[in-house]
Amino acid sequence: MSVSKSDAIAIIGGGAFGLSTALELSRKGYTNITVFEKDEEIPSRWSAGNDLNKIMRAEYEEDFYTDLAVEATHAWQTPLYAPYFHRVGYLNVVSGAASQKAVGTLHRFQAAAEKHPEMKPFFHPISGPQDVRDVAGAWQFTGDMPGWKGYVSKYDGYVHSANALRGIYREARKNGVRFFLGAKVGAIEKIVYEGSGKSRKSIGVRTKAARFHAAKLLIVAVGAAAHKIVPEVGAEVSAKSWSVAHVRLTDDETAALRGIPVTYARDLGFFFEPDPKTNLLKICPMGGGYINTNPSTGISEAPQELMRFVPKDDEEQMRELLRQTLPYLADRPLVEKFICWFADTADSDFIVDYVPNTSSSVMILSGDSGHGFKMFPIVGRWVDNLLNAPDGKQSILRWRWRVPKQKAKGESFDHDVSWRIGTVREIRDVQGQEAVKANM
Ligand SMILES: Cc1cc2nc3c(=O)[nH]c(=O)nc-3n(C[C@H](O)[C@H](O)[C@H](O)COP(=O)(O)OP(=O)(O)OC[C@H]3O[C@@H](n4cnc5c(N)ncnc54)[C@H](O)[C@@H]3O)c2cc1C
Repeated sequence: MSVSKSDAIAIIGGGAFGLSTALELSRKGYTNITVFEKDEEIPSRWSAGNDLNKIMRAEYEEDFYTDLAVEATHAWQTPLYAPYFHRVGYLNVVSGAASQKAVGTLHRFQAAAEKHPEMKPFFHPISGPQDVRDVAGAWQFTGDMPGWKGYVSKYDGYVHSANALRGIYREARKNGVRFFLGAKVGAIEKIVYEGSGKSRKSIGVRTKAARFHAAKLLIVAVGAAAHKIVPEVGAEVSAKSWSVAHVRLTDDETAALRGIPVTYARDLGFFFEPDPKTNLLKICPMGGGYINTNPSTGISEAPQELMRFVPKDDEEQMRELLRQTLPYLADRPLVEKFICWFADTADSDFIVDYVPNTSSSVMILSGDSGHGFKMFPIVGRWVDNLLNAPDGKQSILRWRWRVPKQKAKGESFDHDVSWRIGTVREIRDVQGQEAVKANM
C-alpha cells in the first residue's frame, strides 16, 4: 500500500518510538500526521522513557546494534538532541562476587568497545577500585568496590530522557504534527478494520471515548501495551518491568558528584550523575525483572495502573551498590520509586514491520526490550525506510514480524537474555512486599 504525503497517518503512542516517528515523517514532508497519546501530557506517565536519564552506550554484543548505536550517538550530538546528551562516560564492571554469566557479558561488551575504531580511543580498562577513581574519574567513590573490574568508555554517557521527549514533542508540533492527548481524546481502544482474512485493512482508530478517526496508515508505538492494540503479537512480546528509585541529595552533594560516569556493576545495578535541577540520583537494580502474566493467555501484559513501589530485594541490592561506591548514601531513604514497563522480545530484537493481514495499513514498532531509548533520534528513519522499501518489505530480517510461537506450559524465554542477570518474577508475587500501588 502506498502512502502519499497528504494521506492521514495516525501514530498511537507518544513515547520514544512514536515521537521519533512523528518528527521524522513531518521532516520528510508528510503533512497529515496525528499522534494519539493516552496521558494528558508528554512525557506520559506510562512511557518507559519518562525518566531522568537513560544509558547511552554504543557498545553492544553484536555489531548490528553497535553500528546503530554509533549512528544514534552522532545524532545525539546534533543541535536538536545535544542538550539532552551528557557524555560523562560509562563505567561497566563486575564485582568480585559476580556470576560467570555477568563476567561473560561484560567481556563481550568490552570486546565491542575495544575493537570499534571510533570508540577505541575512548576505552580504558579498569583493574580495581583505584582505577575507578583515577581512570574513570569517579574520585568521589569512597566505597571499597570489592573486586571491581571492567572498563570505562568515555565515548558513552547518558541522555536526559524526559527532557528529550519534551523537546521532540515541541519540535514535532512546530512541524505541524497534531496531538490528541488524554483519556478523552488520546487513549485508543482499538484499530477499526474492514474486510477479513488476507483482505483485511484498517480504516482508522476508535478512542476509548468511542470517537472514530479515519487514517490511511496506523503506526502502533504503545510500548509495553502492544497486546492491547495488536493482540496478534501474542507471545512474541512480553510486557516486562524493572525497578527505578532515587536518592535525594543536598545541593552540595549534587555538586560534589558532578561528572561521575554512569556506573554499572553488572551483578548489582547502576546509577547516574545526580540531576542538578531536582538533586535526585537515579538508581536501578540489575535483575531479571517482573512480568504480569494473564492467566488465561499465558502472556505477560502491561498493567493499566502505575506502580509506585519497588520490591524489598531490589531495594537491598540498590543499597549494596551504594555501600560499595558511595557508602554515605547507603542508608538514605529511597524516593520516587516506581516499576517501569517495556516490551520485551526473546532475542531483544525490535519489531518494525507491518502487521500481517492488514494490507500494510498497520505498522508496529515494538520489542524495544529495554534498550531502545538510545535510538530515540533514529527510530523515525527506520519507519521512513520501511515506508519507502521498493518491495514494501522490512529489509532488516531480524526486525520483521515474527509468527508468535506457542509456548509450552511453564516455558518462558524470560531468562535467556545474556545481559540480564537474575530471575524473572511475577509482579503480583512481590507487590505485597512493600509500599503502595498508586492508581492514577
Ligand atoms: C527501567 C527501565 C530502564 C531503561 N533504561 C534504558 C537505558 O538505560 N537505555 C536505553 O536505551 N533504553 C532504556 N530503557 C528502554 C526505553 O525506555 C524504551 O526502549 C523506550 O522508552 C521504548 O519506547 P516506546 O515508544 O516503544 O515505548 P514508551 O516510551 O513506553 O511509549 C509508549 C507510549 O504509548 C502510550 N500508550 C500506551 N497505550 C496507549 C493507548 N491505548 N492509546 C494511546 N497511547 C497509548 C503510553 O502512554 C506511552 O507514552 C529502559 C526501560 C526501562 C523500563
